[in-house]
Amino acid sequence: MPACLSSFARIVAIAVVALGVDLSQASAKITPGSPFIIEGLGNGTAILDGPWQFHPRDDPAWADPTFDSSSWEQLTAERPWGKQGHAHLTGFAWYRCSITLAPTPGMPPRYSLLVPHIDDAYEVYWNGVLIGRNGKLDPHPVWYYSQSAQTFDLGEVQHGVLAVRVWKAPLLSDDSAEGGGFESVPLIGSPEAIATAKAALDYQWLRSRQFLFGENLLCALVAFLSLLLWLRDPTRWLLFWMTGFAIVPPANLLLLNAHLPYSYVLAMGTAQVLSSMRDVSLWFLLLWLLLLHENRAIARLTRILACICLANGILDGVLISVSWNPQWSGLVQTADAASAFLYTLLEAFPLVLAGYAFFHRKQLDSTRWLVAIAAFLDEMMIVFRNAVKQGRRFTDWPIAFSIDSPLFTVGGSAISLYTLVGAFLLVAIVYAVYSSVRDDQRRQEKLELEKTELMRESERIRHYAEHDGLTGLWNHRIIVERLRQELERSRRNGLPLSVILIDIDHFKKINDTFGHLAGDLVLKELSAIFMRSLRTYDCGGRYGGEEFLLILPGCGMEGALIRAEELRQAVQSARIMDGEATLKVTASFGVASEFTPSFESETVIRVVDTALYRAKNSGRNCVALAEINLPLYES
Ligand code: GH3
Ligand code: MG
Ligand code: MG
Repeated sequence: MPACLSSFARIVAIAVVALGVDLSQASAKITPGSPFIIEGLGNGTAILDGPWQFHPRDDPAWADPTFDSSSWEQLTAERPWGKQGHAHLTGFAWYRCSITLAPTPGMPPRYSLLVPHIDDAYEVYWNGVLIGRNGKLDPHPVWYYSQSAQTFDLGEVQHGVLAVRVWKAPLLSDDSAEGGGFESVPLIGSPEAIATAKAALDYQWLRSRQFLFGENLLCALVAFLSLLLWLRDPTRWLLFWMTGFAIVPPANLLLLNAHLPYSYVLAMGTAQVLSSMRDVSLWFLLLWLLLLHENRAIARLTRILACICLANGILDGVLISVSWNPQWSGLVQTADAASAFLYTLLEAFPLVLAGYAFFHRKQLDSTRWLVAIAAFLDEMMIVFRNAVKQGRRFTDWPIAFSIDSPLFTVGGSAISLYTLVGAFLLVAIVYAVYSSVRDDQRRQEKLELEKTELMRESERIRHYAEHDGLTGLWNHRIIVERLRQELERSRRNGLPLSVILIDIDHFKKINDTFGHLAGDLVLKELSAIFMRSLRTYDCGGRYGGEEFLLILPGCGMEGALIRAEELRQAVQSARIMDGEATLKVTASFGVASEFTPSFESETVIRVVDTALYRAKNSGRNCVALAEINLPLYES
């Protein structure tokens, strides 16, 4: 995959994963509290004699219509779950409301109650009589989050007290976020009207489930794809991070759809550990983005804290899994408080990172600053919220609500301050990863450019080291080296080899008559003639001042003599123009061929030199063959 494409794919993958994560978090809806009213539905009117009331204690006598509940807390739209909150409650709590039902004249005075959704296991009492429940409460209550709307028959009684007894397990009914209490308004009406309303609610519920399922599947798929992409990269913690995201949504889905205690225990316990893993991975990501992973002390601290965090996650998972058992509730509460305290400390780790980043701010560019600030804000929110949540039992600070409470809703998902800061962090991370990938790419391109430049330079140097500066032919060293190689090759493959040594006749005279520049010109022109005559596998070099050596692999004696003769004629007929003057030169040729296997390059040179010497002695401008009883080719 080309570099730009793969980095583009990475950026897209990160962005989509971030989006997927955001979606999966948005699906954990923080619904604004609804006022606790009962709506009349067809065939009559339901008049509430007062607001809903709540009490975090259990005594079945409270179901009795004559029970005095005037000291009970009155629920409002702002706090439909009650002033005390449920986070620390274990055991049963009560909701209660007195109602008068007015039938429509001419219609049968029979009523049904529809409870759309309660996040806990519950029982419904009408005038002290248990008329139904949403799940098994005995021996252990089970958290029936996925239960859709439930219908209860109120009979023909027109006035009474409706009481709902709910099981509050610690950690499950976290009032500050999702659920606790009624999710929407209970409805009262004729059985037919209730059946229609229930069908509509069930349809809605099904659609939301399908949506959630699709969303989680998408998130898991995208995370898996990005995992494949990152597999090729050494940034292992990112892989770890993505893996966390890939596994958490299906685990949560299992949890949301769990109808049996064991699958619930499994899903809840696993999801808890996985989300700790995800937190840890996020630290590593921040560490990397802030370029602080090279500091060994910080890296070691991260590993230690990561181990504590994972251990804590496992403990938390186990505690949550057993929290439905009333026998364990005391222990669970204590362990929960301890764990929350530890988490608060652990969550402070990115603060340490941000602090460290501040002291090493010269290393950070603006993008990394953005990440550091966003991480700081995000962690501040968590730390503050955790601290306040724990303290709220005693202080009842409303500020904890401000962090988690919805500021506004988008498509049914509530957006809180915390969501916004989280989104800001995600954007900062995506941007930082993008800019880091882009920087890498630019660095890579620059390196590539420098590499090409260096290669070109070294090629130029090599050329100068191997070629003659005047003629551009191989220099002495190289042409002798080539002769050695070709001798070796011809010995091995048994093919003939010939060499021609050329010396320009009376060259000194040209220099003396026309000057050295004219001599240079002659050397260049004759080199060009020799070069043109070479085949691709031949090679030619400047052996000395005005001497040239041509090597002709695969060429036998006859061929070599013919080529030498052709060259001799070409030199003779060449007209070299030096300004106005026309220079005419001739050259003498020594040819050596058909060497015995014992021939070394030195012997070859000596033999061909002897032949050249004979050519000179024979009057120049001729070709001499380096053999005994040579025929001499005169011009
Ligand atoms: P012969 O026919 O016997 O070969 O006579 P010659 O003059 O060609 O031979 P000699 O060896 O006496 O002279 C060679 C001359 O070549 C001497 C030197 O000045 C000249 N020469 C060598 N290299 C260069 C060069 O690069 N440029 C020029 N212009 N002259 C060169
Ligand atoms: Mg000469
Ligand atoms: Mg010479």
